Amino acid sequence: MTESSAATSRSDAAQVTRSQERTAQLTAALTALTERIDAACRAADRAPGSVRLLPVTKFHPASDIEILYELGCREFGESREQEAAGKVAQLGHLSRVRWEFIGRLQRNKAKSVATWANTVYSVDSERLATALDSGVRAALDSGDRETPLRVLIQVSLDEDPTRGGVGDESLLALAEQVEKSESLQLAGLMAIPPMDVEPDIAFARLARIHSSLLSEHPKARELSAGMSGDLEAAVRHGSTCVRVGTALMGARPITSA
Ligand SMILES: *Cc1c(COP(=O)(O)O)cnc(C)c1O
Repeated sequence: MTESSAATSRSDAAQVTRSQERTAQLTAALTALTERIDAACRAADRAPGSVRLLPVTKFHPASDIEILYELGCREFGESREQEAAGKVAQLGHLSRVRWEFIGRLQRNKAKSVATWANTVYSVDSERLATALDSGVRAALDSGDRETPLRVLIQVSLDEDPTRGGVGDESLLALAEQVEKSESLQLAGLMAIPPMDVEPDIAFARLARIHSSLLSEHPKARELSAGMSGDLEAAVRHGSTCVRVGTALMGARPITSA
């Protein structure tokens, strides 16, 4: 063996070890998280398995998604359009993955997201809904996608417009619009609790907003609430889908915006 091929095989071996370590880490974290969600369900008198886990993989490499896929995960949440589109392209060999877009979305990115996202969780304006509807229609026409886009409307639980989300007063009009859009399917609501409010108080408010939406739009059953730090409170208040990054993946390599 030449010196350089010996060096190559040493670094290949180091890479295999790293990937085995990461697999072991993610396997343990996924088991612990699934148990945590089940325990939260039991504590809230809900059936274990009634809350879906959406792994949030933003800022983590595509190789982590491949590991989670091997472990049985089929949905992944991403929050930055460019990063997500890159991973979607790179991971085309993983069949049956559903890509869930959970971050703030600018209208000029709607067309791209419409080609690969199964669901957008952060629709909070009529203009964005219009842009997504036409993007999805174009993607359906060109054969880039086969199904309508599931839409969750992001609700603001404080009055801070910079954090995204629509206020109560505009929610019904936006829901109406999404329902009427040919290429969008109103699936439910998403919210992120304000930092300075007890999660239980914020999620109780969200549950009230959701139940009033359901009386007009009975198919909008999804309620995406709860993250690494507050999923128990969200499950107590009817969450159907927790979006978990840190508690599964570890700290993000760079802090997210
Ligand atoms: C990053 C992110 C999450 C995950 O947050 P963690 O605290 O790391 O679990 C959930 N929802 C949204 C919208 C996010 O951007």
